[in-house]
Amino acid sequence: MSLVIAMDGPSGSGKSSASKGVARALGLRYLDTGAMYRAMTWWMLEHGVPVEDAAAVAAKAGEPVLESGTDPGAPTISVDGTDVSGPIRTREVTNAVSAVSAVPEVRARLVALQREIIGSGGIVVEGRDIGTAVAPDAPVKVYLTASEEARAARRAKDLAADPGATVTVTRAEQARRDRLDSTRKASPLTRAADAHEIDSTELSLGEVIEAVVRLAKE
Ligand code: C5P
Repeated sequence: MSLVIAMDGPSGSGKSSASKGVARALGLRYLDTGAMYRAMTWWMLEHGVPVEDAAAVAAKAGEPVLESGTDPGAPTISVDGTDVSGPIRTREVTNAVSAVSAVPEVRARLVALQREIIGSGGIVVEGRDIGTAVAPDAPVKVYLTASEEARAARRAKDLAADPGATVTVTRAEQARRDRLDSTRKASPLTRAADAHEIDSTELSLGEVIEAVVRLAKE
């Protein structure tokens, strides 16, 4: 497999900015697998599927047509031909995504799509289960963390347009999502045994990118 960099970690750990930066620095493609789970969730909500009903979600998991653009300078995600890059970032989708991503039929479908996109490599892939399940043979695996405070502050900044998303509310919603993501039965968020852990709490974005680029060049 040519270069595949697996970037896993909880929400707000700085995975997206770091992964895009690493891809740009090394001339690689970039895949945001979280965007795919969000797009699936957006579609379920749009179609009135009760997202807490795993059987209902499973029955529809094969329907949406997802397409991911892998340019790290302008990543895109579309569902049934509609660009959903904006709508998948709302709090409504964010708070529903863990229920949808816990459904095995959803994971099976998206992991297959992700492996197709990864192909023979040359890509930075960010998510929760890349190093453990999607690309366990990836030559470079990173598990990115940050303190709970730092993660909530970053998320709240992303959601600045939503007046309900204060740091306190965001922190509670994020803690719930992390709990669901790390306790679900199907591929829970966990650090791969051979992943390099990077704590970004005290690091600048540039420093995180540099650390990953260094690992890739080892
Ligand atoms: O990374 P992001 O916060 O956008 O991910 C949204 C959600 O998608 C996560 O909270 C998790 O439920 C799900 N996810 C997943 N596996 C991945 C990536 C994301 O289950 N590889």
